Amino acid sequence: MSIKLAVPNKGRLNERSLQILKQAGLEIEDGVERKLYATVKNGDFSVMFLRASDIVSFVHKGAVDMGITGRDLVLESGLDVEVMLDMGFGRCRLSVAVPEEAGMEEAEDVPDGALVATSFPNMARKYFAKLGKKVDITVISGAAEVTPRLGVADLIVDLVSSGSTLKTNHLKEIAVIAESEAVVIASKRSLEEKGEEMRDLASALRSVADAEDKKYLMADVPVTALDDIRKFLPGIAGPTIMNIVGRDDVVAIHVVVDKSKIYDSVNKLKRLGATGILIMPIDRMVP
Ligand code: AMP
Repeated sequence: MSIKLAVPNKGRLNERSLQILKQAGLEIEDGVERKLYATVKNGDFSVMFLRASDIVSFVHKGAVDMGITGRDLVLESGLDVEVMLDMGFGRCRLSVAVPEEAGMEEAEDVPDGALVATSFPNMARKYFAKLGKKVDITVISGAAEVTPRLGVADLIVDLVSSGSTLKTNHLKEIAVIAESEAVVIASKRSLEEKGEEMRDLASALRSVADAEDKKYLMADVPVTALDDIRKFLPGIAGPTIMNIVGRDDVVAIHVVVDKSKIYDSVNKLKRLGATGILIMPIDRMVP
């Protein structure tokens, strides 16, 4: 059964989403960037290119079966869609930020009647209501960080990743409302009709997302070092150990390693006498 997948057509989530589709083995027809719609050569899929912020409602209505968008946008919409998968990119947080000199250190310090500028009015409203604060929310479509300087807001509720935009605008983060990253969402009705095909597609995307933080490491190591190596390179099911023709004292190991541990692992391997260390990218990890 044919599946319609919505992908952000521009903005922060666009490029990586397309890369992941390609890495998952979906051959999207060329020139996709300018198109609204593309077919996939090697599967029964079509891809629609939409604004990340519109994807949630298109999926909710069932106009498309699945979509890649930000978790923040799903939460803000309040719409009942199935979140099938975290994608591991587009990480950010929805935070409360105030001018550095405002004298507010935490959300409790926000006075009743404060003017809040945000593109996330539903989440902001819920957050302050939970704290028992009566704030006055102005909905804007972007550039929240300039509103305190313009005198139209006392504080903002906005997405933050590195925090550098806040710093440039002399704002400081005083509370985190929600964490976000890119997610794969699905229409509940579509899941009932073509759940199997949709789960296959989600699992292909997951295999790419899972490989994202991993590397494949190969090295020739002295047999006597194997016990020590197992301690810091556990791999998925333990390292694969292979004989090298004509050598009794050295074996080859192959192991999947967290990207963050590569630097340390290579140093340790070298100290244990490893040679011929190779580190390679992994496109997909299918369990
Ligand atoms: P777009 O407006 O099309 O660029 O997409 C915005 C989406 O990108 C947001 O809803 C988030 O899910 C995601 N995102 C990731 N990091 C950030 C960030 N630092 N600022 C804004 N959006 C971000």
